[in-house]
Amino acid sequence: MMGQPQEKISIAVSDPDQQWKRVRLMLRREFGDSVFHHWLGSLTLEKAEGSKVTLGVASPFLHSWVLSHYAERLTYFWRRERPETEKVSLMITNEAKINEEENRRRLTAKTHTKEPDKDEGKDYTDYNDLAVLDPRFTFSAFVVGKENELAFAASRRVAESESVPFNPLFLYGGVGLGKTHLMHAIAWHIRKVNPKRQVLYMTAEKFMYQFIRAVRYKDTMAFKEQYRNVDVLMIDDVQFISGRNATQEEFFHTFNAIVDGKRQVIISADKSPGDLEGIEERLRSRLGWGLVADIHPATYELRLGILQEKSRDLEVDIPAKVLEFLAHRITSNVRILEGALNKIAAHASLVSQPVTLHSAQEVLHDVLRVTGRKVKIEDIQKRVCEYFGVRLSEMFSDRRARVVARPRQVAMYLAKQLTSSSLPEIGRKFGNRDHTTVMHAVRRIEQLRTQHGDFDQDVELLRRQLSI
Ligand code: ADP
Ligand code: MG
Repeated sequence: MMGQPQEKISIAVSDPDQQWKRVRLMLRREFGDSVFHHWLGSLTLEKAEGSKVTLGVASPFLHSWVLSHYAERLTYFWRRERPETEKVSLMITNEAKINEEENRRRLTAKTHTKEPDKDEGKDYTDYNDLAVLDPRFTFSAFVVGKENELAFAASRRVAESESVPFNPLFLYGGVGLGKTHLMHAIAWHIRKVNPKRQVLYMTAEKFMYQFIRAVRYKDTMAFKEQYRNVDVLMIDDVQFISGRNATQEEFFHTFNAIVDGKRQVIISADKSPGDLEGIEERLRSRLGWGLVADIHPATYELRLGILQEKSRDLEVDIPAKVLEFLAHRITSNVRILEGALNKIAAHASLVSQPVTLHSAQEVLHDVLRVTGRKVKIEDIQKRVCEYFGVRLSEMFSDRRARVVARPRQVAMYLAKQLTSSSLPEIGRKFGNRDHTTVMHAVRRIEQLRTQHGDFDQDVELLRRQLSI
């Protein structure tokens, strides 16, 4: 009975046009018909790809109006539909113009639509970043486990402290592990307890964009000015400024000025300061001066905890079994995990059926297929290196020091366990080692696993992360 329609709906759930329809619906519900028609009705969906959503808007006036009044909710609703969304951008397009004209014609009632201001000749069609704070990203909504407790505690300390406890606070970890969540949480907290403190949050991409723009318009004074009165500066995903020398230079100066002024800087990146590639040495070392806190991939328990927390906000009841299934099967990152949960909930409310393990599996067949693909030796090497904090080159090197030899053995062991490669094949992928070396590694790790509980857990964790 459910087979066919379910199939169709599960595709529709992740279709950007359908998502946009639902976002529009939610906006309309929230702001009412009149506001919706005046300001939001003419927006068009230009593109929704990966973490970026681009909407078309009819005029410069509408552009700035939507930006200042509805950016936060737009981003919020898009994130509910597409959890991978990081940025919702607006650009002026003809299609939205046509939409807008149609809209006006339909609006027979008394209207307070202002005439769009005349374009002042500025480059309005440039992308604009709606980097606003996500209302869901608070400390109380953050689930703490061993993997993130240091980052969490440090973030809280910075948020609660009147002075500057460590400068900078540098948060790092892989995609979707909660870096942005923690930064927003700090900002929310400060806004609440001490609204006088000026908090500026932006992505490194935006920093770069603004800087390049300022140079183009010969307006670097204004660019600098905006940092003058900032008490807390947060720059998210700083790896994005790698290779941009002029931007790095400017960033370095801004950073120093703020730190020297005894104001707080918080940085996030996908790697530790020392491992950031394409970043000048002096900047790299400067970034590591304060407190560096890493966030590890979530283990099963934390993943389950997060799902329980997130499912509380949903209108649909998700059985514990389904949450456990998700926590078990989706191990890559929390954002994807959350996306899966939302997808299940959206589907259930669309078909008005309770969520079951079976329906969850059906709805998620595409997600599970991607994550269920065969693991490659290269992936194992990479993950093991990340886990133990060694460089990838050590997988192929001759160094025998235990700090690198042990992770290498673990990677060989996992390669044997998780792939169908033969011992000689594995040996070749580890700097042309002999198959007896691989065999020895496998035996050694098996032995160590039975002797040391902690080590056993490390390996088990890695195995689970890789064998999704
Ligand atoms: P990052 O910036 O590290 O790529 P985000 O902060 O954007 O990751 O987190 C991705 C998603 O996962 C967000 O919806 C966030 O709320 C959620 N998330 C990650 N870690 C946690 C956690 N420990 N508790 C609750 N939610 C989390
Ligand atoms: Mg982020």
